[in-house]
Amino acid sequence: MKIVIIGGVAGGASAAARARRLSEEAEIIVLERGPHPSFANCGLPYYIGGEISSRDKLLVAPVAMLRQRHRLDVRVRSEVTQIDRDNQTVTVHDLDSGKTYIESYDKLIIATGASPFRPPIPGIESSWIMELRDLGDADRMHEAATARAKQAVIVGAGFIGIEVAENLVRRGMHVTIVELADQILPPWDREMAIPIEAHLRKHGVDIRLNESVQAFEETEHGLTVQLQSGETLSADFAVVSIGVRPESQLAADAGIECGERGGIRTNAQMQTNDPNVYAVGDVCEVSCFVSKATVQIPLAGPANRQGRIAADHIFGRMSAYRGTQSSAVVGAFEMTAAMTGLSEKLLNRAALNYEKVYIHPSDHAGYYPGATQMTLKLLFDPQDGAILGAQCVGTNGVDKRIDVLAIAIQAGMTVYDLEEVELCYAPQYGHAKDPINMAGFVASGVLRGDQPIVHLDTLHPSTRDEPFLLDVRTEQEFAAGHIPGATNIPLEALRERTGELPVDKKIVAYCQVGQRGYMATRILIQRGYEAANLSGGYRLWSNSMIDRAD
Ligand code: FAD
Repeated sequence: MKIVIIGGVAGGASAAARARRLSEEAEIIVLERGPHPSFANCGLPYYIGGEISSRDKLLVAPVAMLRQRHRLDVRVRSEVTQIDRDNQTVTVHDLDSGKTYIESYDKLIIATGASPFRPPIPGIESSWIMELRDLGDADRMHEAATARAKQAVIVGAGFIGIEVAENLVRRGMHVTIVELADQILPPWDREMAIPIEAHLRKHGVDIRLNESVQAFEETEHGLTVQLQSGETLSADFAVVSIGVRPESQLAADAGIECGERGGIRTNAQMQTNDPNVYAVGDVCEVSCFVSKATVQIPLAGPANRQGRIAADHIFGRMSAYRGTQSSAVVGAFEMTAAMTGLSEKLLNRAALNYEKVYIHPSDHAGYYPGATQMTLKLLFDPQDGAILGAQCVGTNGVDKRIDVLAIAIQAGMTVYDLEEVELCYAPQYGHAKDPINMAGFVASGVLRGDQPIVHLDTLHPSTRDEPFLLDVRTEQEFAAGHIPGATNIPLEALRERTGELPVDKKIVAYCQVGQRGYMATRILIQRGYEAANLSGGYRLWSNSMIDRAD
């Protein structure tokens, strides 16, 4: 068996290593255009910022290791320029010698990844405009950030834009992020992205939302960046990180079927329309695990798993790719944001029914030093309680909760299951009733009718049916800030003061995070009032009110 793999980083290297483990006899050739196979793309921003101080650490599996330990025929600086499916060959351009040769295959794996999208903005070809995909890009940015550069403009506030922003700030640079959407992390729900946005601003990152770049112009010392609003920014360099496009032209030219967004179509074994050709990683389109829609989601975990699956299938094992869940995590200084499954935005776009709850638990027992608060949003099916998605933002324990929910989604679990999951506990790590259980209690309470809730968006003046807004926090908390129009009756006094409440109006109770509001709702419902708890409480309301002015 002769296997040729095009692209030797996440998906390609994973396929190659798995193939070797399954067959000592196979001839495995890895053709990589760049100078390094198997480098850590995900670590590049942290090398630029200095957190990873040694560049060598980014070379996860250097050529020598792949050749000696795995006996892979790894050829770097080798670009495949053509696939001939009839003759089962590829044309390889040796970028060092300039020579071209033909290599035959029994099975071909395309793992060419995705390349950063460069919008057709005037001046974009300047050498001071960078993107971050490989070590060469990282070297350039590292050199600029450690030499003379003082200010940078980052176009796009996705994961890579945010990671680069953090790391350039760590290098002492002034960073401006320009984002077309009205929020950072555009696939997220806005209210869950706001705390991270506020935190980045706190660390000096200048974030311009609803804004775009009209033109770049080179100056003697760098660039001017002309914004749509009319403002002009100066920068030593700019980083464009507005998404990636699958590098599938090579495949398309060979008649391999691609989808509307350019990703290569495969079956669950990562086989293309040609049974001798597989495709893995960012170059593929995938099905969303939750909605089953066809999507293009570039993530390292899926690329690695798909590489394994393709190799398995070549050697007769029927492992299957289950779809991509979009489990992702991003750090910004001390804060973390993580998500899995669909966001509310994407559920709306897919026209799927959902209900949502918000909780604001601490990451571990409040009595143990160092507890920090997080916000967890859980999205679920209002009929059967199936978990559809979750987002979490906070300082500690965020990734752990989203990882648990990612498994819950894949296992087809419901919010009722979350009430019962048993997670490890000691006060410095979590709660006897972990935030995962709490999210389950709240969501199940909503579905059982024990805990009617309303959402902030329904309180918007244009849509509200004028409920009576009842703030059940203490007088001091109320005085420090409350939702306009609310009446304050502290929870402790509520039983004695129900006579002050209108009987002909729905009562929406709220507290800081939702717990006292829930208690108030239970008291009122049992006394015959129509009552509901404001999901997410005052904290969510005040988060969404954060002044975005600089
Ligand atoms: P790649 O890893 O991009 O590898 C494709 C390789 O194919 C490239 O090296 C390219 O040179 C080579 N190639 C392309 N065309 C040819 C050709 N014709 N001939 C020969 N070789 C070719 N994902 C996460 O899940 N978490 C993270 O924290 C994260 N952080 C990231 C940070 C950065 C800065 C970047 C750039 C990406 C990050 N990602 C992250 C995304 C993740 O790295 C990708 O999803 C993953 O690397 C995709 O693997 P792949 O094998 O499909 O493609």
